[in-house]
Amino acid sequence: MTPEKDIQTILNEALGLTGVIHEQRKTSQVRVPYAEKDGKLVHVSSVERGLKCDAVCPVCKTMVVARKGAKIRHHFAHYPGTNCSAETVLHFIAKQLIYKKLISALFLKQILRVHWKCIACSNRHSFSLLDGVKTVTMEKNLDECRPDIALLDSDQKPLALIEIVVTHRPDSRVLDYCNQRQIPLLIFRIDNAEALEALGLYQNLEPTVVLYCPLNRCEKCGAPVFRKRMYLLNSNCWRCGGPMKIALMDINSKIYGPNYFSDNDRAYARERGVVFRQHFNKKRRLTEAALGCPNCGVVTSNRYLGFLKKQTWKIPGNYRGFVCLKCRHHVDEE
Ligand SMILES: [Zn+2]
Ligand SMILES: [Zn+2]
Ligand SMILES: [Zn+2]
Ligand SMILES: [Zn+2]
Repeated sequence: MTPEKDIQTILNEALGLTGVIHEQRKTSQVRVPYAEKDGKLVHVSSVERGLKCDAVCPVCKTMVVARKGAKIRHHFAHYPGTNCSAETVLHFIAKQLIYKKLISALFLKQILRVHWKCIACSNRHSFSLLDGVKTVTMEKNLDECRPDIALLDSDQKPLALIEIVVTHRPDSRVLDYCNQRQIPLLIFRIDNAEALEALGLYQNLEPTVVLYCPLNRCEKCGAPVFRKRMYLLNSNCWRCGGPMKIALMDINSKIYGPNYFSDNDRAYARERGVVFRQHFNKKRRLTEAALGCPNCGVVTSNRYLGFLKKQTWKIPGNYRGFVCLKCRHHVDEE
């Protein structure tokens, strides 16, 4: 599997996308709580019931009726019927609601902080969406693609893009555009009335997925690289009990053994009394670096090292640079 394919699969899962046919059927049953009145989007709660609502479908501009009965969720329905697609209506309204919110936040100089769990590195990130933004436009033609919403700086350069997903996966050209330029792509999955209302009612903006990792990229494979910090601990050999220096690496808050060290890291640890051994890992069926006892020579398996994590809390680690966990490419710094 290629890394891109990986991301695509993870993305579909994160967006809750299954089959398009299935999604379209589900979408056609969504009770849409917004319509257009006097050129503006209105919520069903703010109009009179029935045809007195005096509103139209924002997409096909035909008359709608406000269904405000006792049993079902209040919504607008085309009157009589039309072949206007529910997907297009949801997409259109979501775009308008997000656009409106951005424009008003920009005008009021509000800070819109977006938080997300990163698909690339699994950390939590956040950023201030409107920093440096001068204009917000819908359906801006960027040559390579035409995103639903673009946030532009004073030179008309996009700082972030927004895509709304109803039943179809996001346009891969928009994904590529953001990935190549390293700008955030916010994706909103809108497949029900509640998701739509959340856009209209709340101040904050909560995308379903944000495709962006602010960490540096590995020059070899493109995955995020993490800061590494070495801990040197005074311990005892598990077999002979003799004194033994242990070296551990903290990478993205997890403990790693010497098979995640660079040659420089090993030399650095060796100078400080750490002994390395080659060790055959039966499970992974390969020879890897492990720690050895300077007295009896026994190997301490890398699995055991995780138990020593607590001891690292008391002492400062030594910053060693960056490492890619995917391909183990190191960028050493001292
Ligand atoms: Zn319509
Ligand atoms: Zn990340
Ligand atoms: Zn890499
Ligand atoms: Zn020993």
